[in-house]
Amino acid sequence: MHNVVIAGSGPAGLTAAIYTARANFAPLMFEGAQAGGQLTLTTDVENYPGFPDGIMGPKLIQDMHAQAERFGTTFRAADVTRFDLRARPFHLTIDDEETIQTKTLIIATGATANPLGLPSEARLLGHGVSTCATCDGFFFRGQPLVVVGGGDSALEEALFLTKFASGVRVVHRRDELRASKIMQDRAHKNEKISFQWNAVVEEILGDETVSGVRLRDVRTGKTQTVDCKGVFVAIGHTPNTKLFQGQLDLDANGYIRTTHGTATSVAGVFASGDVQDPHYRQAITAAGSGCMAAIDAERFLEADG
Ligand code: NAP
Repeated sequence: MHNVVIAGSGPAGLTAAIYTARANFAPLMFEGAQAGGQLTLTTDVENYPGFPDGIMGPKLIQDMHAQAERFGTTFRAADVTRFDLRARPFHLTIDDEETIQTKTLIIATGATANPLGLPSEARLLGHGVSTCATCDGFFFRGQPLVVVGGGDSALEEALFLTKFASGVRVVHRRDELRASKIMQDRAHKNEKISFQWNAVVEEILGDETVSGVRLRDVRTGKTQTVDCKGVFVAIGHTPNTKLFQGQLDLDANGYIRTTHGTATSVAGVFASGDVQDPHYRQAITAAGSGCMAAIDAERFLEADG
């Protein structure tokens, strides 16, 4: 029987692990399919306090991991494939074969990049279509690229890709960006970045690899083809809550609803990070809510015996 199981290993999960491990609850963490979460897919993190010169996302995660390990967190690379939250202790199925029990559960399963939903996007994923500039940018040296989206992620991807690409066209469905002012300023100053306003990607072109995109102007309906060798999709995220549907109270977009800090609709289950946060979605707010979840779980265990 475990005291604390943490599902997810981004900044929320790792901070929860540091706190519950230091409180002697010997947490067990399931790292999930994308160990380290979204920060492992980013480059420079410039807004995490304590790093005046910035820090690479993967390095920040690596250091949090080492810190959690130092205080006695057990890590498992396996996936939790079923959560049974009907009664305490909770029953968790691991990789469809093993069952474990825990008195409390901290959910920090994060969110996943949204696809455009085009058949051509699915067909060419990994062959020119990507959701991770850090992972795939290097393959497009000297090539023209398209980034889809108008938020911070889209501009961050576009700026990073200018290190490799001959040019980056940002395709946005409105004529106004959602991204923060500082990112907008940087993108507008970068000569390699251009914008296609009021446009959506209707089709990604290419047989074996991407050769271009067909764009549709949302006001006039007119279409045009833009040549490019890569398409980076950065249109937001969906919370990873499929396994909690019907068990926890979720909002209309699938985010876990929390009250009084990180409490969910089931006593003993706490949620932190992007899985319960449609508003802030920053590494620092995820870490902060991971700390809150740990303290909430500790208090619950102390009160519950
Ligand atoms: P976001 O802020 O939700 O932006 C998503 C963008 O994609 C929006 O511009 C949206 O258009 C567009 N979009 C959504 N669905 C679309 C579709 N089906 N087709 C075409 N376009 C579509 O998501 P995000 O950029 O991933 O950012 C998420 C959060 O992380 C934000 O809070 C952001 O500040 C934060 N973040 C921060 C940094 C940083 O500080 N450096 C970096 C990355 C992310 P509309 O604008 O028309 O809705």
